[in-house]
Amino acid sequence: MPDVVPVSAFKDNYVWTLRNRTHAAVVDPGEARPVLEYLQRENLALAAILATHHHPDHVGGIAALLERFRVPVYGPKHEPIATLTDPVSEGDKVTIPKLGVSFSVLDIPGHTRAHIAYYGAGSLFCGDTLFACGCGRVFEGTPEQMYTSLEKLRALPDETKIYCGHEYTLANIGFAKGVEPQNSALSARERRDRELRASGRPTLPSTMREEKATNPFLRCTEPAVVDSVNKYLGQRVSDPVRVFAAIREWKNRS
Ligand SMILES: [Zn+2]
Repeated sequence: MPDVVPVSAFKDNYVWTLRNRTHAAVVDPGEARPVLEYLQRENLALAAILATHHHPDHVGGIAALLERFRVPVYGPKHEPIATLTDPVSEGDKVTIPKLGVSFSVLDIPGHTRAHIAYYGAGSLFCGDTLFACGCGRVFEGTPEQMYTSLEKLRALPDETKIYCGHEYTLANIGFAKGVEPQNSALSARERRDRELRASGRPTLPSTMREEKATNPFLRCTEPAVVDSVNKYLGQRVSDPVRVFAAIREWKNRS
């Protein structure tokens, strides 16, 4: 796997930049300026652009990057992104020869209708579906779709590095503590991630092992999470999709 560097965009977006000594590929360039500055400063040529979903803070910089570099633009086949050159969906492979890396495409609808993730070399680029200690809002899909997508990601190896689209981790941990106040892995994660942020570093990537231990949206069958959700709802539910939907609604209102 080439090095993966976070290039910051807007207030809290990361444009994940895969690079070697000569070339780079970027994931979800919502803004072109910080990417172009990084490429120029590091003397790198762009080799490819990968998009996870159609929201402007993930694709808004593609057109300006294409004015400087003629490169393939991969992205979800079933979303309206005018700048795509190579629409992809589940089962497709994305290979970037200049970086010697290859990814499988996973369909993970829910946040948007046809959101995709890129998985390869032990790393997952999952846009706004799985966040560190949280998940994206369900804008275009159903809670059932989102839950199924998160379970698909959850089945990846524990060592998988999670590169998501935003630095939302501390706020997500704050909410997760309300759901699972007794979770000691969550408290440990909070201490570490607070230190990272205090020294200006990203809390990402996390690992799937860590998400399984601390992310309430991946813990919909844990008794402590189910109890907490039942208290929130004032009724007994145990179906994981309903538990998921309730946590999502709880978070939206918090
Ligand atoms: Zn989004």
